[in-house]
Amino acid sequence: MKINHPTKTQKLTKGVCSLSLRGTSCPSWLIGFAILLTTIALAGCAKTTETQAAPATPSVKTDSPTPPPTETPASEAPHSSSPAPTINPARAMQYVKEIVAFGPRPVGSPNHKKLEDYILAHLKGDEVESDSFTADTPEGKFPVRNIIAKYPGTKDGIIVIAGHYDTNYPLRNSAYVGANDGGSSTAILLEFANHVRGKKRDGVTVWLVWTDGEEAIKQWSETDSVYGARHLADKWQKDGTLKKIKALFVMDMIGDADLNIDRESNSTPWLLDIVQQAATRTGYQSHFFARTVAIEDDHLPFAKLGVPVADIIDLDYGYGNVFHHTPQDTLDKLSPKSLEIVGNTLLEVLHTFDQPPGLPVVATRP
Ligand SMILES: [Zn+2]
Repeated sequence: MKINHPTKTQKLTKGVCSLSLRGTSCPSWLIGFAILLTTIALAGCAKTTETQAAPATPSVKTDSPTPPPTETPASEAPHSSSPAPTINPARAMQYVKEIVAFGPRPVGSPNHKKLEDYILAHLKGDEVESDSFTADTPEGKFPVRNIIAKYPGTKDGIIVIAGHYDTNYPLRNSAYVGANDGGSSTAILLEFANHVRGKKRDGVTVWLVWTDGEEAIKQWSETDSVYGARHLADKWQKDGTLKKIKALFVMDMIGDADLNIDRESNSTPWLLDIVQQAATRTGYQSHFFARTVAIEDDHLPFAKLGVPVADIIDLDYGYGNVFHHTPQDTLDKLSPKSLEIVGNTLLEVLHTFDQPPGLPVVATRP
């Protein structure tokens, strides 16, 4: 993913690019030099703009599970008194270990193919579709394959939970294994599958999507990034699927042991509010939304077509994001607790969408 450039002083630019700009304390020549260095360093890597340091105020009021696709927070409450399920953090972490053991998994590589087979093996018996195509990239043509697992529910509407499984292409010949960036998202989706498969869900339909080609091949741009998500958004617009999607969540870099999920400002505000309220009910609110940043990720192609989206991402991976897109993105930086925090919060969000309107959502966990 990519973090947008800062537009004001008092903003912090992060990325592979770990340079910080603290506008008020630097002489102007140093700021200019720093901006130049940042611009150079940002080529081909993630970029972000911090727009606000203060956390959004947690709300005690619950939002509707089916708000309109506008930026207006929904008003009325969903209800539930039944306990929400919890994910198995040890099993989710085990998935990450097995995924990382394949080595680098860039598009078009033998390891990538092994991971495709690994994902499909875990979805055996489920309704699975592939969205396969050939992507034109600055380095030539690559096969790209989004994997979609569908879990029907009794209620109208589809909730999509997506996360990329490819790893950084420019680092393909290094020791880079993408434990967090690629590994954690692939694993959490496999763990979600364990919770939504089985008999028809008493709730909304859930589609899990392992997106491919999220990473830039050469340098992040509108045309060199999120290949799989762009293709899928376009396909779903043409076949009418997009209209049925109530919300789309992207999971990315959610395994960091020091978990700070950003409030991502290209996401749909009312959907982020639902996430925040779910995190508050689960008691995990201190891991959410202390920082607001604009990040380009797999959610954008869907957002551009009017789908309510939320990018669930922690792009502060190591001090100043130093582990991102480096060979230091390894298992030891991750924690099963972080997978649990994100996983349970998303299950709680799903629970919110599953409930009929009427009663207030109550705390479902101690
Ligand atoms: Zn990445």
